[in-house]
Amino acid sequence: MRPRHLYVHVPFCARRCAYCDFSIAVRRTVPEAEFSGALTEELGLRFGGAGQWNVDTLYFGGGTPSRLGGDGVAGLLAALRARITLAPGAEVTLEANPEDVTTDSVVAWRGAGVNRLSLGGQSFDDRVLAWMHRSHDAAAIARAVDAARRGGIDNISLDLIFALPSAVERDWRRDVRRAIELEPSHLSLYGLTVEPHTPMGRWRARGELVESPEERYETEFLFAHDALTDAGYDHYEVSNFGRAGCHSSHNSMYWSGAAYAGLGPSAHEFDGQLRRWNLPVYRDWVRAVRSGADPMEGCERLTPDNREAERVYLGLRTLGGLDTTEAERERVKPWIEAGWAAMDGAARVVLTPLGWLRLDALAADLTVVRSR
Ligand code: SF4
Repeated sequence: MRPRHLYVHVPFCARRCAYCDFSIAVRRTVPEAEFSGALTEELGLRFGGAGQWNVDTLYFGGGTPSRLGGDGVAGLLAALRARITLAPGAEVTLEANPEDVTTDSVVAWRGAGVNRLSLGGQSFDDRVLAWMHRSHDAAAIARAVDAARRGGIDNISLDLIFALPSAVERDWRRDVRRAIELEPSHLSLYGLTVEPHTPMGRWRARGELVESPEERYETEFLFAHDALTDAGYDHYEVSNFGRAGCHSSHNSMYWSGAAYAGLGPSAHEFDGQLRRWNLPVYRDWVRAVRSGADPMEGCERLTPDNREAERVYLGLRTLGGLDTTEAERERVKPWIEAGWAAMDGAARVVLTPLGWLRLDALAADLTVVRSR
C-alpha cells in the first residue's frame, strides 16, 4: 500500500510537558543520524525501494520534530525523498516548539521542502507556561513567528490549550487576542484533558489539581469561535481554524477517512480498512527495524459498523458536514431547533459550535439510527 499521505513521528522532546501523554523520548541530545537511519530502514522494510511513491501531504509530528534542527530535518527529508516524490503543491508540515525556530533553521527547513509550520504556543502567559512545564516563554512565540516569516515560511499554525483549571487564573480572552495579533494562517485549539499517567494526572490524584468546570470549556470554546471568525478565520473543524486556502490538507485527509501511511515509533496507519500502529518506545522501535522486523505493535480491522460510526463522527466534526438519509433528518430536527445543527442543502447536516460542544452524544445518536 502506498497512500498519498504520510505521517512521520519524531519522538524527541527536551522534557515532558505536564499534560502530555504522547509517545515521546526525552533527550538532551537528539540522535539525528540513528533516527534518520532507522526511519529509512522502516520505509524500505515496509514499502520496498522500487517504483515511485507520490505523496500529497507529509506531516512531521511528535514529539518535537524541530529538535532535529535545520540540518537534521534537511537530512531526513533528503533520505525520504530518495523513496518518495512530493507531488506539485504538496503540503509539508513540521511541528515546532518556539525555542527551535530561528531564521537559519527555517531557511534550512524551507530549502528541504517544508512549507508549513505548526507551532506549539499553548499560552502567552509565562506563569501558565511554567505551570505546564513548557520549555519556552511567551516572548519566544512571537520571535518564532517572526523568524518563520523571515526564513520564508508564511503558512504558520499556532496551537493553544484552553479550559485550564480555575486556580491557574489564565486569561483566555487575552491569549486569543494575542494570537490574532500575530496573524497566523491557522490555529488549533485543544481543551485540556488530564490523563492519569501524566504529571497533571498525578497532581490530580494528590488533590493538587481540580479540573476546570464544564462551563469554562464551553465559554472559552464559544469565545474563541466568535473572536476568530470575526477576525476572518473559518472554523472548519471542531478544533481548527484557518484562513481561506490555509486549512490543513493533512488533517483534512484524516477527517475524510482517506488512507495514510505512518512511520516512526507509535505512528498510526490506515489503509481504508485496517488500522495499525507501531511500537511506542523509541528503543524498541529502533531495535525492531534494525533487526529487519516490522515494528508494528498492533492492528485492527474495522468492521462495516465501525467504519460507519467513524464516518458519522468524522463528518460531524467538520464544516463539510454529513450526508443524511430521510430517517436521519427526522432525528436531526430537534438538533436544528436547539441550535446545534443546520442543514446545508437538502441532505447535508452541519453542526454549529453549540453542536460541536455535544459532538460525542450527537454522533452516537446518529450512529444508532444508521445501524438500524
Ligand atoms: S513538546 Fe509536545 S510532545 Fe513534547 S512533551 Fe510537550 S506536549 Fe508532549
